[in-house]
Amino acid sequence: MEWYIHKGAKNCSRCERLFEEEEEYFSALYDTDNAYTRKDFCLCCWDTNRQNESFSYWKTKVQKKSEPVQKYAHTEIFYDLFVRSENEENVSNINFRYVLSLYLMRKKVLTLLSIDKTDGNEFLIFRNLKEDKEVKVFNPKLDKEGILAVKEEIGKLIGIA
Ligand SMILES: [Zn+2]
Repeated sequence: MEWYIHKGAKNCSRCERLFEEEEEYFSALYDTDNAYTRKDFCLCCWDTNRQNESFSYWKTKVQKKSEPVQKYAHTEIFYDLFVRSENEENVSNINFRYVLSLYLMRKKVLTLLSIDKTDGNEFLIFRNLKEDKEVKVFNPKLDKEGILAVKEEIGKLIGIA
């Protein structure tokens, strides 16, 4: 499971100015009515209010046109989303968290310790190697197609596929 960064043109959600080559900007995810939306902001339009309202954010940069497509998404973005989704309980969030845990396991940020089955529910117990603590992830029992759909949804949000 990998994600690839898209190159496409982007503009600021506030002033609508198109970002220039190599320009730095902020991408932020907002949790609205149990769905995430992504907005991009130029450095001028980004402020602490936007930062505080966001669910997760990161600073990024428009790639040079001559540069090859960046191959892999940053694990830190996924890790941040994973950590922030810990206490969220809506369905899309539970699915996100599960798929992100599979990805982080592949990236050796999480290791699977055990599977906890109680009352017909299954939880994956991981060790978070970054913070050296145990984390519990609900297994929504997605099939292969379900996992792929969630992966696509996350990719779309972050601007990668
Ligand atoms: Zn702007």
